[in-house]
Amino acid sequence: MEKTIFEKIIDREIPASIVYEDDNFLAFLDIKPKKLGHILVITKKPYRNFLSTEDEVLGEYFSVVKKVANAVKNSLKADGINIVINNEPAANQEVFHTHTHIIPRFVNDNLDLSPGTHEEYSNPEQMEEYKEKIISAL
Ligand code: AMP
Repeated sequence: MEKTIFEKIIDREIPASIVYEDDNFLAFLDIKPKKLGHILVITKKPYRNFLSTEDEVLGEYFSVVKKVANAVKNSLKADGINIVINNEPAANQEVFHTHTHIIPRFVNDNLDLSPGTHEEYSNPEQMEEYKEKIISAL
């Protein structure tokens, strides 16, 4: 079966701004961030989505999600965090490999979480700055 884009990131076939990695999970900056600093935490094992992810994996997975979410919140001085999991196209899932979105939120940021809208890093250096800030809080 054709690899998903996330398997290619795991296998280092395409680049990503990785902030966290262990034997089972990987976290990196989303290239179309809802807010700058938006992170995806993925399982290394390629489940189609959260609904088909084995129960045995979820405890450790959500510990990593929590750890990264706190690092995003602290390093970016966010007021809050959205943790979002899309399952199946009807629910806006585009990449069929288990992932959780961690989105920093700020009071009155008026963020629209509907599909199609996102922010842009002004240049690769800015993306690198966000990556380094988050890493330093982990
Ligand atoms: P979903 O709609 O929940 O399946 O989210 C998939 C996410 O993957 C989207 O937010 C995309 O912007 C993100 N994405 C797709 N390709 C890449 C990539 N190469 N590097 C980082 N994020 C990506």
